[in-house]
Amino acid sequence: MNILVIEDDKKIATLIKKSLETDDSGYKVTLSPNGTDGLALANSGAYGLIILDRGLPKMDGIAVLQTLREAGNRVPVLMLTAKTEVEDIVAGLDAGADDYLMKPFEFAELIARVRALIRRSKQDRGAEIRYADVRIDPVNHKVWRANTEIILPEAEYRMLAYLVRNAEKVLYREDIVENCWNSPLGIFSNIVDVYINFLRKKVDVPFSTKLIHTVHRQGYIFEER
Ligand code: CA
Repeated sequence: MNILVIEDDKKIATLIKKSLETDDSGYKVTLSPNGTDGLALANSGAYGLIILDRGLPKMDGIAVLQTLREAGNRVPVLMLTAKTEVEDIVAGLDAGADDYLMKPFEFAELIARVRALIRRSKQDRGAEIRYADVRIDPVNHKVWRANTEIILPEAEYRMLAYLVRNAEKVLYREDIVENCWNSPLGIFSNIVDVYINFLRKKVDVPFSTKLIHTVHRQGYIFEER
């Protein structure tokens, strides 16, 4: 597995490379110190995963990610950031990041996230998922409700796919965070609620039957009632 690390902090970049390459999972790491060169490398299609710093010279991480996603490139991206506000994380996820790690981080944590992302990207294949009048294509990350296509950013797609795969089960915020972002709860607890609101607007509000329900003091359930 080739991993591209786009990070301008030389010390952090070198440590990431070293910790991934000594992990003995067979990772091979390429470093890129700025957004434009990083984007060119990412576009080569040679990498199975990208670790992308948010603050970069020449072109920032969000712009790199948006450009990649707009071009249809769906390589898993783990974004690194020094910012810890909910809005910053949402901005990164909206741009198409698959996961988010805040600096400073433990290298063991980074490796765990990388593993989870690779595992998840392999699961993103397979048959359509259906529940009620919702249909999900897990290969192309497309969603329909009652034959109307609903366009969702990656983070919303992932959360909806998780809800639909686990329809009729109460899902705690912890479950959602762990499965969608593989992160300890912390700040992500609020993010679950933010994304549930986004999803409701697109998946429930335009339709007469509501599928996303709040379970008081517990979490959420995706269910046709
Ligand atoms: Ca930076």
